[in-house]
Amino acid sequence: MRIVLLGSPGSGKGTQASCIEKEFGIPHISTGDIFRDNISRNTAIGAEAKKFIERGLLVPDSLTVSIVESRLLEEDCNEGFLLDGFPRNIAQAEALDKDLEKMGKKLDAVVNLEVSAETIIERMAGRRICSDCGESYNLCFLKPAADGICDKCGGKLYIREDDKPETVMNRLNVYKNQTFPLIDYYKGKGILISVNGEQPADKVYGDICRVLERFK
Ligand code: ADP
Ligand code: ZN
Repeated sequence: MRIVLLGSPGSGKGTQASCIEKEFGIPHISTGDIFRDNISRNTAIGAEAKKFIERGLLVPDSLTVSIVESRLLEEDCNEGFLLDGFPRNIAQAEALDKDLEKMGKKLDAVVNLEVSAETIIERMAGRRICSDCGESYNLCFLKPAADGICDKCGGKLYIREDDKPETVMNRLNVYKNQTFPLIDYYKGKGILISVNGEQPADKVYGDICRVLERFK
């Protein structure tokens, strides 16, 4: 099963992707997580990506596409994968199509999480991340049991640098101008499935599972 999860920042992609990964046994590939991991390990890729991420801009396609290309060639992707946060513009989508074609594969479905702009802004303000295991929480709808502490590992929760209001504005603009057109791109290919992302996370997950069942 080869799936792309599409949606605005704050649409809940990361949360849904973790659940799908467990249930369907396919690797969850998040370009944002890959960049953050590189930044925390002080790699050259991390240093380059950081310049863009901290301004809320997209990391250049050349770097992003080559990271995804090599990740898709790893063995755990043979039976499928779930892309989260990639592609993020038409050029990346076309690069992905070409790569998959070379491998004799194609996408089964693109799941689009639909969430209104008001909800997005509210959610992004409540977002907290575990400094140890990377688990995400939200003070609006996915609260940790104890204030500021990760349920899973006891790590301290923090606010992501790029979740600050000025950066959030840039990210939402980038989404509108560059990522939103992908909805029509995948509609045109007949593989777009939209899910109402305004519902509670478990409801959203139920809807996603129902549509993905047929690609198992
Ligand atoms: P969100 O979906 O909440 O914006 P991500 O973790 O997916 O968070 O991405 C964080 C940042 O990483 C983005 O704002 C962008 O700077 C960079 N990034 C992630 N994926 C891509 C991509 N496919 N192309 C370019 N930049 C990316
Ligand atoms: Zn944790």
